[in-house]
Amino acid sequence: MEADRTLVNQRLAELQSAVIVTHERPDGDAVGSMLALSLCLRRLGKTVIPVIPGGIPARYASLPGADLVASDLPATPEKVIAVDCADLERCAPPILPDRRPPFINIDHHPTNTRFGEVNLVEPAAAATAEVLYDLILDGGLPINGDIATNLLAGIVTDTIGFRTDNVTSGVLRKTAALVDHGGRLQEVYERLLTQHTLAAARYWGAGLQRLQGDGRIVWTRLTLADRKLAEYPADDDADLVNFLGTVDSPSVALLFVEQPGGRVKVSWRSRAGVDVSRLAQQFGGGGHEPAAGATLEGTVEEVEAAVLRATRQSLETHPSS
Ligand code: AMP
Ligand code: MN
Ligand code: MN
Repeated sequence: MEADRTLVNQRLAELQSAVIVTHERPDGDAVGSMLALSLCLRRLGKTVIPVIPGGIPARYASLPGADLVASDLPATPEKVIAVDCADLERCAPPILPDRRPPFINIDHHPTNTRFGEVNLVEPAAAATAEVLYDLILDGGLPINGDIATNLLAGIVTDTIGFRTDNVTSGVLRKTAALVDHGGRLQEVYERLLTQHTLAAARYWGAGLQRLQGDGRIVWTRLTLADRKLAEYPADDDADLVNFLGTVDSPSVALLFVEQPGGRVKVSWRSRAGVDVSRLAQQFGGGGHEPAAGATLEGTVEEVEAAVLRATRQSLETHPSS
């Protein structure tokens, strides 16, 4: 890890210009990490453009540096830096092989395919933002209140407010140091975790109304019709899956979110050491042991049936692992 960090710091020091990309449907760690690194490298005088197709999601628009986000790739970036992105297939916007400059790959997914020219992948890290914190400290890179706020955004959202079991004393110390650097912890916690729009609350209502449970699994679906009726503007789950993960007793929570074009986004959350990343991989996705996802072709009914069957089977085969 030390060697990887040194190598990435060398590559960052050498580059003049880069674009920063992340995974599709970016979450708080994806956006926070991309903005933190953009602000940091720009302070060093480099030309850095963070790119999110369709622009920055409204939820993250108040993060410092949000105005830097472009919705398209510039013609010929010297380098692409991917943050919080487990594999090239999930990278957004897609970067075609014939236009592919060297990648610097910074991530914490255990399923990361190490697709970069240089790779800094730390599966024990609670967030890509934690990997970046170590990188910044190690390389003596600039940090200020805005950069710290973005790193806090990544840590706070990926740990669901310090609730996941990868929250070590180290994560808490780094969080404290980020607050000392001027990071605005309460603001990030409130805006990105606690607060929901009225539309999101209505969208949750549709999903919660048809919540099902069998003692081991709780699950529900969100349809395109729900989204329309609630006037929810994005194509994600408005964080409903993390609430499902708090329902008492079950070891797995599952959410099916209907997508345009006959696809369904599946999210798994687990407790008690059940490894759902293996299940997600079985369906072409990935993630972490307690939180994983995949996007499948098919109707919600078909995908729900297939995924529930596989999840039940896995719970029978590995009752507590
Ligand atoms: P989500 O269910 O989208 O909140 O994702 C839970 C975790 O799984 C996150 O760490 C995601 O980055 C990861 N993940 C979700 N979908 C995929 C996918 N199709 N391929 C790889 N990792 C994924
Ligand atoms: Mn992410
Ligand atoms: Mn992450």
